[in-house]
Amino acid sequence: MAEKTTKTMRVLYICSSIQPKDMINIVLFGPPGAGKGTQSERLVNRYNLVHLSTGDIFRKNIKEATALGTLAKSFMDAGNLVPDEVTINMLKSELEAFPEAKGFIFDGFPRTSPQALALDEMLSEKEQSISCMLALEVEEAELEKRLLGRAETSGRADDGDISIVRNRIKVYKRETAPVAEYYKGQNKFFAIDGIGELDEISNRLFSAIDKVA
Ligand code: ADP
Repeated sequence: MAEKTTKTMRVLYICSSIQPKDMINIVLFGPPGAGKGTQSERLVNRYNLVHLSTGDIFRKNIKEATALGTLAKSFMDAGNLVPDEVTINMLKSELEAFPEAKGFIFDGFPRTSPQALALDEMLSEKEQSISCMLALEVEEAELEKRLLGRAETSGRADDGDISIVRNRIKVYKRETAPVAEYYKGQNKFFAIDGIGELDEISNRLFSAIDKVA
């Protein structure tokens, strides 16, 4: 009897250790220039998560002149989205590259409804799920100012040209903003004021995460 109980407890322990609540999977959301990259670094340090930025991964591929980079470049230079199929496959192999991760910060993904559905599917295959979507809110004039300012140090062609910047914001409103509804429907959406000191904004993010973690 005692042996059976121990066995049952061991099984329960193993099961609970793979439950999604042990993992923190965060979608960091917001328009271009909202501060997702900057704040991701801070979240990674605090919660020991793997940072997956689709924009960074595409830029790395462009630098290394891979086939994926060549394909993505024309879309990115114009401020348009890289097609879903390409982006989803890329994200899937990135996820698989970190089997030991304690959780992920998805920065710049999902950016369309099919991407959001695909992400849920990928995670559920691993018995995981999204913990929350944190949406950094910043008004349009401030976004334009930040992106044009960032161009001076980022060297990103898509930051330095006002017509490309405006196209990115337009694409965000049309294709990406509706993704928030998907997470609102799952009660996982948190709006975060993205204006203020960097530490102040980080603290707002931390307190939202600490509510769900
Ligand atoms: P930002 O958030 O400042 O626009 P990112 O580095 O996230 O910058 O993205 C840069 C570009 O990379 C986007 O304009 C788009 O062309 C491409 N990209 C990044 N993530 C995705 C995605 N999830 N789906 C499609 N295209 C993407």
